[in-house]
Amino acid sequence: MSILVVGSVALDRIETPFGKVDRTLGGAATYFAAAASLFHPVRLVAVIGDDFPEDRLEFLRRRGVDLGGLEREPGESFFWAGRYDYDLNSRDTLETRLGVFADFDPAIPASFRDSEWVFLANIDPDLQLQVLDQVASPGFVACDTMNYWIEGKRDSLVELLGRVDCLMINDSEARELSGDYNLTRAARWIRERGPRIVVVKKGEHGALLFTETHTFFAPGYPLEEVFDPTGAGDAFAGGFLGWLAYTGSVDEDELRRAMIFGSATGSLVCERMGLDRLVDLEVDEVYGRVREFRELTAFDHPVAPVHG
Ligand code: AMP
Repeated sequence: MSILVVGSVALDRIETPFGKVDRTLGGAATYFAAAASLFHPVRLVAVIGDDFPEDRLEFLRRRGVDLGGLEREPGESFFWAGRYDYDLNSRDTLETRLGVFADFDPAIPASFRDSEWVFLANIDPDLQLQVLDQVASPGFVACDTMNYWIEGKRDSLVELLGRVDCLMINDSEARELSGDYNLTRAARWIRERGPRIVVVKKGEHGALLFTETHTFFAPGYPLEEVFDPTGAGDAFAGGFLGWLAYTGSVDEDELRRAMIFGSATGSLVCERMGLDRLVDLEVDEVYGRVREFRELTAFDHPVAPVHG
């Protein structure tokens, strides 16, 4: 059973202290699909303009991503420009041009409507709801959002929370949404509004998983060279959901593993500019990174108290 992803496919301009690229392939749905398709078939729904070099998506097709839901409309593709300073945890958005995305009215192809796994990448919560109305009976729905929607479409977002199994959100957004600085309480506030699983992403500092019965922490990988964190959150979501769909389970053990697979794909994407690292990434490299995570966090619990 495939994973359906709906979200942006974009052209990005990215500036970091280590380099600059313009009109490079980007978009939340693109990063997600590139990571998730390492584990499981993906169906992508998005809109691009007539300026979009579609051959750039060929690697996704080769990896088993069904692009049957990619609409091409006359006009400019979604364009986003962002700049990072040496603190790669914070970025400035320099420009967002919605282009054809402004009139995006996601129509889920009939052949995609039986999707079991759904990821609603960061788009207008009204559109996210509209997508859910078109999917027959999804087994697991996860979504992302951003401050823009928390501020501008709060009611729709809260309605959406009542219809998803999992919210994946970054720490500042979780605080803003709940009005609580404390992330554990913020996650509880979110869970009380619907999603039984909340994943709070903390950039290079890792990610927290909250469910009714447990809390789990996946660290960020201590990379020696970080070129560009763009898309790390979406690549995390792709690794996370890709792993769950591959195993067909959302029990506690698999959720914990999914957090590590998400951290692995999220860290790998930062090693090069834009999507470059994901284009020819092999699943074995992800497993290698997962093994490193195990080394990073494994320790023996002392069998008896060592202090008097
Ligand atoms: P992330 O770094 O995980 O936030 O994802 C960055 C990607 O999200 C970039 O490739 C952008 O093209 C895309 N993006 C930026 N702003 C938006 C937005 N408002 N709506 C949808 N996608 C966006």
